[in-house]
Amino acid sequence: MSEPKVRLYVDQPLGAGQAVALGPDQSHYLFSVMRLGLNAEVALFNGRDGEWRGVIEQALKRGGIARCTDQTRPQIVPPDLWLLFAPIKKARTDFIVEKAVELGAARIQPVQTRHTNSERIRQDRLQAHAVEAAEQCEATFVPPVADLVALDRLLAGWPQDRRILWADESLTLAKTALLAEPRGGKWAILIGPEGGFSAEEQKTLRAMPQVLPVSLGPRILRADTAAVAAMALWQAVLGDWV
Ligand code: SAH
Repeated sequence: MSEPKVRLYVDQPLGAGQAVALGPDQSHYLFSVMRLGLNAEVALFNGRDGEWRGVIEQALKRGGIARCTDQTRPQIVPPDLWLLFAPIKKARTDFIVEKAVELGAARIQPVQTRHTNSERIRQDRLQAHAVEAAEQCEATFVPPVADLVALDRLLAGWPQDRRILWADESLTLAKTALLAEPRGGKWAILIGPEGGFSAEEQKTLRAMPQVLPVSLGPRILRADTAAVAAMALWQAVLGDWV
């Protein structure tokens, strides 16, 4: 059977024979924009039950129903990697969230640092971006985007068993450092804002046994580039690219 062209995130249980109610926005997209009608097939996922083929049973202007037939992809949860980053300008923050989903982050955590450019984020908007990215990249998992928290508070309660790959302009190259680490552990990547980390933040991070300070090469990367580079490297050495 061929793959349905439209892939949709739904917030409902999926399983054989399960009816899925489609809301006004989804119906508008499926029936008006994509011009799908009765018996058309869509791919559905909810972040928990894998991906399912759904057949359109009802197609109205303001709602519809898709019936699940068979599972087309199993549920795949990415490795336990969080991305911690200081929000930057809107478009670049959106980019970071999108790329973090594509690269398989398990959780996205915006952090407020001393030199963070932006004081506030729209968590709901970023979460919607994460859903859209998952729809596009055939992921069955959507990482939660947490609300902005202060970095010092986050670090004060940081779990003993989760390492932090700290993108710092340190002397140790990230790849060399990661190759010495066992696979299967819990990790977070920490990327700073355009202004870098304050002296106090650097002192706190250096003193934490969970923290691995690493360099991403001789050039200073913009925060969005650094996030993508660090995630790719981590996935290639310890994650699901191996
Ligand atoms: N002006 C800042 C640079 C910030 S770049 C400064 O001088 O500190 C934004 C973030 O990207 C940094 O906080 C760091 O986490 C990461 N980053 C950029 N280039 C890097 C590199 N070559 N090695 C490690 N981390 C880097």
